[in-house]
Amino acid sequence: MEFSIPALANKIQTEADAYILLEHMRWGDDLSGQSCPKCGSVRKFYFIKPKGGDGTTRKTNRGTATQRRRWKCADCRHQFSVLTGTIFHGTKVSIRTWLFVIFEMCSSKNGVSAREIERKYGLTPKTAWFMTHRIREAMKREPMAGLLAGTITADETYIGGKPRNKHGGTRPVGPGRSRRPDNKTAVLSLVDRSTGEVRSRVLPTVTGGTLKEAITSEVDVANSTLHTDEHSGYRKLGAEFKAHETVRHSAWEYVRGDVSTNHAEGYFSQLKRSLDGTHHHVSREHLPRYLAEFDYRYSTRDLSDTERMRRVINQTQGRRLRYQGGIA
Ligand SMILES: [Zn+2]
Repeated sequence: MEFSIPALANKIQTEADAYILLEHMRWGDDLSGQSCPKCGSVRKFYFIKPKGGDGTTRKTNRGTATQRRRWKCADCRHQFSVLTGTIFHGTKVSIRTWLFVIFEMCSSKNGVSAREIERKYGLTPKTAWFMTHRIREAMKREPMAGLLAGTITADETYIGGKPRNKHGGTRPVGPGRSRRPDNKTAVLSLVDRSTGEVRSRVLPTVTGGTLKEAITSEVDVANSTLHTDEHSGYRKLGAEFKAHETVRHSAWEYVRGDVSTNHAEGYFSQLKRSLDGTHHHVSREHLPRYLAEFDYRYSTRDLSDTERMRRVINQTQGRRLRYQGGIA
């Protein structure tokens, strides 16, 4: 089933429905992906049916009503729910709301600001902020994701800075343009030309050394071809690649044969549009999380919104974040 906002609203009319949808998205429709968060067993789980009432609601230890579905591990008797050990753990926000917010973040090209989430879902600013950042945490690529290999475009851009510098001058577009506008944060993006995957990160400065460190930790250098502009920082590292092709922006050359940095530039323009238009101001401290969100959405751009949502939900385990100030 492909969701839209109305289709999702129809599917999760109650909190109990939302738990079931979350279970199906995380563990599969047949729940075959279920595993015990305590002992890791995948053998057998018992559903603990709520006693009395309508069969979906039970009382918690504190006496409040909840529709959270509980499961029990056949091996270690540990009880858990679909929230245990995930970004949702301990949340006071309904799972219905979480699912809507995840869908919105997965389906809007420019992202959704915490402000919008706060207004639309009647949340406090702090709660909306925590939720969006936790979802970004789930969007981060797996820590053990392999190295990129193939034809890799590398390019860097500058984000933020003084408002009067915001438009124009952020990219070296021709002869004589400065590479380092003041007050801005450098971002390196690597685009795998065959898979479309993008990996971005903040760079402290753009030098041969920082570029090398960033690129070698993401790319199988010896088995890849590197496409860049003529920035001297790439030169030394480029020699370690199978091949290094450059376009000379200083000579107004943007594409030569299949060599260009256009893929990275397409990503950057989308990123900047969104940071300017949707999020307005992103601090350097939080920028990596926004990059994770944009990398995720861009890398999965050929998937449906529903599939993109399913993948995020699959990555919610073990991404639990402890923010100062408690739990959203
Ligand atoms: Zn167990």
